[in-house]
Amino acid sequence: MKTALVLGAGGFIGSHLVKKLKEDGFLVNGVDLKYPEYWKTYADNFILGDLRKLDVVTDVVDRKYDEVYQLAADMGGAGYINSGNNDAEVMSNSILINVNVLKQAKEIGIKSIFFSSSACVYPEYNQLDAKSMICKEDTVYPAAPDTEYGWEKLFSERLYLAYNRNYGMKNKIARYHNVYGPYGTWDGGKEKAPAAICRKVAKAVDKIEIWGNGEQHRSFLYIDEAIKATVDFYRQQEYFQPINIGSERNVSINELVNIVCKIADKQLSKEYVSGPIGVNARKSHNDLIKDVLGYAPDENLEYGIGQTYNWIKEQIK
Ligand code: NAD
Repeated sequence: MKTALVLGAGGFIGSHLVKKLKEDGFLVNGVDLKYPEYWKTYADNFILGDLRKLDVVTDVVDRKYDEVYQLAADMGGAGYINSGNNDAEVMSNSILINVNVLKQAKEIGIKSIFFSSSACVYPEYNQLDAKSMICKEDTVYPAAPDTEYGWEKLFSERLYLAYNRNYGMKNKIARYHNVYGPYGTWDGGKEKAPAAICRKVAKAVDKIEIWGNGEQHRSFLYIDEAIKATVDFYRQQEYFQPINIGSERNVSINELVNIVCKIADKQLSKEYVSGPIGVNARKSHNDLIKDVLGYAPDENLEYGIGQTYNWIKEQIK
């Protein structure tokens, strides 16, 4: 039986990934600070542990797994990442995890780790307006991420690539762009825009608050598509540079609110308030993933938002 280790298995993407790996017939071990918050874990063994601690990492990265996915990170939506209040924690927590995991993997001879990077690595100067935004993989330098979260991801990308060069590893790096769906954080301050908007619309009677003027542009990728692209890319054994996993369909936050309102069958007025908004415009660029995988994630935003809205509505009840 093939074996897989998922670090960050209690998180949103990690918990979905565990389920997919079980469906693929793997024996799956998962590690996280916490169990999945909104559903059960599908892992065969779930270890509660803090990956900032080397002794914990030594305990859990304990054999040559066939597949190792490193998704653990201190992260959240704009309210968490862009406020600036959590920068020291975000950077130090995540970098400790990545250093520990790589050291231990090399020590025991693991050949390849999947590392979840982020669209936040891209320079702010290429994301100033929706008409000229570009997040093509090779535009990441000269580096100028707009958050410390993005700087940590970029440094860690380089660390995984350095292990490839110096120790013959075959680590794979994906830059996720706004992955969303059921069983993800939807309140408490770490939620991202699709979940926050679904929650606000589900609770609203006549109006909804939006951070900024709602003209920030983003692309959003449904979780099932993100998981499929993740395992397909990890198992592809030819391309070892960072790749985007995201949608090219670009919408403004105002448009996203309209889509959610239509699904909810509600007519709400928009009230614009100040709040952390991040870069002005960001979407995935999918030429490379099409070359490498032969396809790019589909763009059915209405379907994904429908699934997410219905799930969040049930949670609120
Ligand atoms: P998430 O916050 O739901 O999952 C991350 C998990 O890591 C959490 O369950 C958390 O408890 C765990 N973790 C944090 N510190 C830990 C520690 N010290 N020891 C053990 N576990 C620890 O986030 P997610 O949306 O599932 O994202 C997964 C990965 O993908 C992260 O690395 C994130 O940065 C990256 N990513 C996600 C998105 C997205 O849109 N969801 C976009 C870009 C990048």
